[in-house]
Amino acid sequence: MYSYQSAAAKRGGVSNGKKKRELRRGFSEATLRFTKVQARKQSIIKRLHQGVGQLIKRAKIDVYHGLGRLLGPSIFSPMAGSVSVEYEDGKENDLLTSKNVIIATGSRPRPIAGLAVDGDRILTSDEALELPECPASILIVGGGVIGVEWASMFADFGAEVTIAEFADRLISMEDKDVSAALEKNLKRRGVKI
Ligand SMILES: Cc1cc2nc3c(=O)[nH]c(=O)nc-3n(C[C@H](O)[C@H](O)[C@H](O)COP(=O)(O)OP(=O)(O)OC[C@H]3O[C@@H](n4cnc5c(N)ncnc54)[C@H](O)[C@@H]3O)c2cc1C
Repeated sequence: MYSYQSAAAKRGGVSNGKKKRELRRGFSEATLRFTKVQARKQSIIKRLHQGVGQLIKRAKIDVYHGLGRLLGPSIFSPMAGSVSVEYEDGKENDLLTSKNVIIATGSRPRPIAGLAVDGDRILTSDEALELPECPASILIVGGGVIGVEWASMFADFGAEVTIAEFADRLISMEDKDVSAALEKNLKRRGVKI
């Protein structure tokens, strides 16, 4: 899946003796290092986070860091649809009123009976994203887009990967030909389905 080309070779030149030796020898297989990838991911998140923060500030958008709760009509809320913001440190709630409200609270992983997430052996993608090391083997429940994305990545890192999917094919919402090609590719790379 991965090919390696040094930055100097990409620019069409070779900058030093080491690179020349590399070129003479031919390139060796690239190695993926999970810990390095995780560290790079964290730095990208930090940079994006800071960038978005700057954009929000520049656009003069007010941000309240607390738990938003949509209120119905009551003596405390001037109109239905007001938002109360609750703070962890016990600071008094803010009450925000606005003509329009967008609810953008995201989603949570769906729990599966008998597979209680413990953050140790049983993980959702949230915990998997924080893994310090690549596991030696992993069973992925669900062969949808996210399941196969993770399967492909863990296989590239050298883990022994198994996918359990109850539909008769992977990414069952997609075209059958795509499912077949994907399954063939993953199996060729050692993923058990
Ligand atoms: C493993 C994985 C891979 C994915 N890959 C892709 C991909 O390749 N391409 C793609 O398009 N999508 C992908 N998605 C989906 C994508 O991440 C989501 O669709 C997207 O993040 C949803 O955005 P959102 O703003 O609705 O929710 P989120 O990004 O989840 O943001 C919701 C925010 O609301 C906050 N919040 C929740 N409740 C409250 C409350 N009561 N008060 C205040 N704040 C609250 C949360 O803390 C959070 O910060 C992926 C998702 C996962 C899990």
